[in-house]
Amino acid sequence: MQILVTGGAGYIGSHTVLSLLENNYDVIVYDNLVNSSIESLVRVEKLAGKSIEFIEGDICDKGKLSGVFKQFKINAVIHFAALKAVGESVKIPLSYYQNNVHGSVCLLEVMQEHKVHNFIFSSSATVYGEENDVPYVETMKFGTPSSPYGASKVMVERVMSDFAFSNEDFRGVTLRYFNPIGAHESGTIGEDPKGIPNNLLPYVAQVAVGKRHELSIFGDDYPTVDGSCERDYLHVMDLAQGHVAALNWLNCHSKFSGVEAFNLGTGNGISVFAIVKAFEQASNKIIPFEVSPRRVGDLPAFWANTSKANDELNWQANRSLDQMMVDTWRWQLNNPNGYQS
Ligand code: NAD
Ligand code: UDP
Repeated sequence: MQILVTGGAGYIGSHTVLSLLENNYDVIVYDNLVNSSIESLVRVEKLAGKSIEFIEGDICDKGKLSGVFKQFKINAVIHFAALKAVGESVKIPLSYYQNNVHGSVCLLEVMQEHKVHNFIFSSSATVYGEENDVPYVETMKFGTPSSPYGASKVMVERVMSDFAFSNEDFRGVTLRYFNPIGAHESGTIGEDPKGIPNNLLPYVAQVAVGKRHELSIFGDDYPTVDGSCERDYLHVMDLAQGHVAALNWLNCHSKFSGVEAFNLGTGNGISVFAIVKAFEQASNKIIPFEVSPRRVGDLPAFWANTSKANDELNWQANRSLDQMMVDTWRWQLNNPNGYQS
């Protein structure tokens, strides 16, 4: 079965491509490499002992995309391709709407043209927003997104619902990721942020390896266990396997049409201070930090209700916090300059 993976050279995409290959799917990656390197896929091929079809292209380029659907008999699309930096999205919102929303519409149009109906979308816990209580459940209404990036996820989910309403063949799954961290246990693929990392774990790892001086902890006066924000961190390989579970679910539900949402998280909130402590233990390094003001748009705490994914996808995040830290550290230590090293 051939799966088209947009954005498959990126962080979550590359780990998912590995899981797909290990589960005997054939993979075609379509990526414009705006935030990734082809080296990730070279390493995935080595790990899997299998080859990947790679096409360099933009999801907004409908002509090129259409050529891919003509060339391969695609059974399903897993759609990772997007810009993902929350802060940047506030500065250049039009680029985010163009890339993430218009790009997704282009992809759905080309899929429709080629009668490909199975679609798995990378959504985010950000769609729940501050209006909803934790833990977040799939039946909750969308909250108000705190950034254009978050809004782009809500918009694409809305596009999927409206498209499904008009087209009874469409079979959409939206996977709402919580906070993916970690790396494949080999230490050969992982997260390779460009410039200064925005996310907590890459920043902590770069402090540990000596690339950054100290971590800024954004706020210690939240109403949480220790005053720092709490998030639901899950191992990227568990997340990757969530995509395989979603594909299996689509395969098993041949009569399904519409859109189904699933939370992918562990169901536990972990504070920033707890992350720093766990990383120190795993790496045997001290992480110097200072407490700085709250980051605009951050919510105090959220985590997933994972019952639906556990029961219906038969999936759960199994890897421990310690393993997430150990694997992040191994990747960072082996690849201090990411895929450039
Ligand atoms: P990433 O930046 O590592 O991967 C995204 C990939 O998409 C990159 O390889 C990039 O080159 C490619 N891409 C971007 N725009 C493209 C375009 N127009 N055409 C073709 N390729 C394009 O990001 P990631 O962390 O792997 O995230 C993957 C998906 O998961 C994204 O949709 C992101 O919004 C979503 N997500 C990520 C997180 C997270 O914390 N990493 C959380 C929730 C949701
Ligand atoms: N955070 C931090 N310092 C950093 C980066 C992040 O204290 O340099 C905190 C941030 O305030 C949030 C948590 O770590 O509470 C996770 O942030 P991240 O950006 O990784 O994910 P988010 O949940 O914001 O998408």
